[in-house]
Amino acid sequence: MPDAVSSSSLDLAGRVAQNVAAVRSRIDAAARAAGREPSGVRLLVATKSQSAEAVRAVVAAGVDLVGENRVQELVAKAPEIADLVAAGRVEVHMIGHLQRNKVNQVLATASGVESVDSLALAAALSARCARDDRTLDVLVQVNVSGETSKAGVVPDDAPRLAHDVAALPGLRLTGFMTIGANSPDEALVRAGFARLREVRDAVVRSGAPGSETARDLSMGMTGDLELAIAEGATIVRVGTAVFGPRPAPPDNTVPSPR
Ligand SMILES: *Cc1c(COP(=O)(O)O)cnc(C)c1O
Repeated sequence: MPDAVSSSSLDLAGRVAQNVAAVRSRIDAAARAAGREPSGVRLLVATKSQSAEAVRAVVAAGVDLVGENRVQELVAKAPEIADLVAAGRVEVHMIGHLQRNKVNQVLATASGVESVDSLALAAALSARCARDDRTLDVLVQVNVSGETSKAGVVPDDAPRLAHDVAALPGLRLTGFMTIGANSPDEALVRAGFARLREVRDAVVRSGAPGSETARDLSMGMTGDLELAIAEGATIVRVGTAVFGPRPAPPDNTVPSPR
């Protein structure tokens, strides 16, 4: 795959625009190879550890969906992108672990939470949304790889959680999210994405209240978006291919972003 452009001779906006275009080419090629319409795959740019200026550059490059992993970062950038959010030019999704006591901070900016992994979290989101008379898009996060470092419910428990979440007021269950296996074995990574698709299909087919909207598959990142699109991804979450490699954490007490 082509390296992200990182030459300092290009300014941030130029670099980001060039890299976003390269990612879109990858998405288009992968969709066509899978016999799918490229428009059926939405690009979410993961902006963790990036500045608000970088988020603005992403939006200027035509991206209409960004994802944040940490509440603190989302809250810090919120005022600097509030105009873009209010104008409907960009949506913000929470894609990292969310604690129940922080839902209010997230809901002030985010239109969606992709990391719903418990009914308790969903209930907290629901209570707040119902009180504010608004609707939040939520995706159930599923751990398809079984790697203990990854959040999400096990695939066997996902339909049950999805049905419970879909029945809550103030929430619209729009699909499922996963982080692919951290493995060079493409067949293994792909099997995990296929598993998420099977979960999605079973839930949509169930006819349970609220499950008919659960069509999104948020899966695939810089290293594996082609495999995810081949298995039906409707949202790919890309960071490194847009911004270049993230700086290494200062020491090993800081949790890895993935
Ligand atoms: C960082 C992150 C991404 C993007 O990963 P890259 O490999 O940098 O493209 C996607 N999803 C989640 C949940 C992330 O934390």
